[in-house]
Amino acid sequence: MRILAIHAHPDDIEFLMGGTLALLAPAHELTLATFTNGDCGSATHTREEIGRIRPAEAAAAAAMLGARYVCLMQHDLELEFRDGLRRETAELLRRTAPDVVMTASPQDYMADHEMASALVRDACFNAPVPLYDTRRPDAAPPLAKVPCLLYADPIELTDHLGRPVEPMFAVDVSAAMETKTALLACHASQREWLRKHHGIDAYIETMKQWSAARGARIGTAYAEGFRQHLGHSFPRDNVLAALLGDKVRKLWP
Ligand SMILES: [Zn+2]
Repeated sequence: MRILAIHAHPDDIEFLMGGTLALLAPAHELTLATFTNGDCGSATHTREEIGRIRPAEAAAAAAMLGARYVCLMQHDLELEFRDGLRRETAELLRRTAPDVVMTASPQDYMADHEMASALVRDACFNAPVPLYDTRRPDAAPPLAKVPCLLYADPIELTDHLGRPVEPMFAVDVSAAMETKTALLACHASQREWLRKHHGIDAYIETMKQWSAARGARIGTAYAEGFRQHLGHSFPRDNVLAALLGDKVRKLWP
């Protein structure tokens, strides 16, 4: 299968879906993408410098999974639901032609994440529409069908009001934690930045705490939660359960 994981910033994918992607990587064709180049993610570098450093870190993490990395080169804190970016996101989907798309939670702690989620949801619906024109000279053909769309957990596993977000299912990633940790460690520039801005001292430890909290929900050491978009025209079968078997534990509905 072809799987596209796309989130707002470099390192979001690794935090929230890295373990699941590590489990899928050996048998499937993965593309990892970020909307932004992470160019507000530093207290020491210039925007230009950090905007070059972070895509390189994300590309290194993707390479560790044998995956392709694409950066849409948007700027941090500037993601908007606008026509040009809607078409660009649909073009990425057409070029990737994924069976499964994994993206940001519709409810999350900051606007770039929620905007990324909305843009990806929109593109999943639009990319198969034959008359939807991405206005690129080298445009890829429309998708054959709407892909399966999965939303990852939000940051800290809560929405912007601090309410817990209950996943529809969780993937036991205990066996993939070494790889997940190594993927996140590719983002060396962020350990220092997060300590200064968010007050998070231990970058890796935070990821492990969230993964452990999800693991506790399903009785495993570590897990990652997902919700599936089940609206009109979207596939409703649980593709990850078919791919990962008993590592996927259904919680609701
Ligand atoms: Zn982010």
